[in-house]
Amino acid sequence: MRPKVMIRMGDLDRSVVLNSVLRCKDKWGGFSVGQALVVENLKKSYGKFEALHGISFEVAPGEIFALIGPNGAGKTTALRIVATILQPTSGTAHVYGMDVQKDAARIREIISYLPEEAGAYKNLTGLGYLSFMAELFASDAAVQREFVQRASDITGLGERLRDKIGTYSKGMMRKLLLSRAVMTRPKLAIIDEPTSGLDVVAAIDIRQLIRRTTAEGMAVLLSSHNMLEVEYLSDRVAIIDKGTIHDVGTPQGLKDKYGKANLEEVFVQVVKQ
Ligand code: ATP
Repeated sequence: MRPKVMIRMGDLDRSVVLNSVLRCKDKWGGFSVGQALVVENLKKSYGKFEALHGISFEVAPGEIFALIGPNGAGKTTALRIVATILQPTSGTAHVYGMDVQKDAARIREIISYLPEEAGAYKNLTGLGYLSFMAELFASDAAVQREFVQRASDITGLGERLRDKIGTYSKGMMRKLLLSRAVMTRPKLAIIDEPTSGLDVVAAIDIRQLIRRTTAEGMAVLLSSHNMLEVEYLSDRVAIIDKGTIHDVGTPQGLKDKYGKANLEEVFVQVVKQ
């Protein structure tokens, strides 16, 4: 029986029970659709170099789960495997019970992936870009309009959506891309370094944007090397370094466990052990 985990979400207190009820083998021996993501003993080698040494973790629906670790830890590699872009060397990852290797096409219908270095067509306006992307994701005109409306509201960019993307700041660009990533109401959003390169104000906006959209039940798997940021944003975090997950828990649970004031200090302690 898995332990029950009480999660504190900023100023919004919510308790989430993550227990074995969510996960059971189905009749084909696959995983229950109860969990948004189940990663088991995942390994990835690039040639002779093993970037992931067999990582395991789970993400519940509506949960924000962060892989935190320094450059080169293996975060992007793990995210790309879950996003069905990269094949694992061994191990498994199931998204709502579907195997990333066998059911990649079906998984792509219910996830969205935002890479760290994502860009958009600079000559389009923000609105033009959202309309273009909505047409790619839906054939029905009414659904396309709904997607564009939803994304426009989420960006918070207002009239600036009518300006060319080439005139946007990094923060505006990231808001636009994140809004695009969640406009189709994915069941799992995979976001690599959501606020990388942004100033404090833009970073706070992005965090709030992610928080608001998960209130609808979307699960989020994100990566960050900014440990203080994930402390505010994530329900649970996995501490990853050199391809190994060293510990998983709520930010508060990990701080309590290691007797540290913040996740940066927890990280140093964990990787030293
Ligand atoms: P960062 O925060 O810098 O983006 P990361 O934690 O996302 O780092 P990865 O990009 O997953 O780490 O890289 C993990 C390791 O795998 C690194 O040592 C990296 O050099 C290596 N690596 C990643 N992609 C490749 C590749 N295509 N070929 C060879 N090695 C790679």
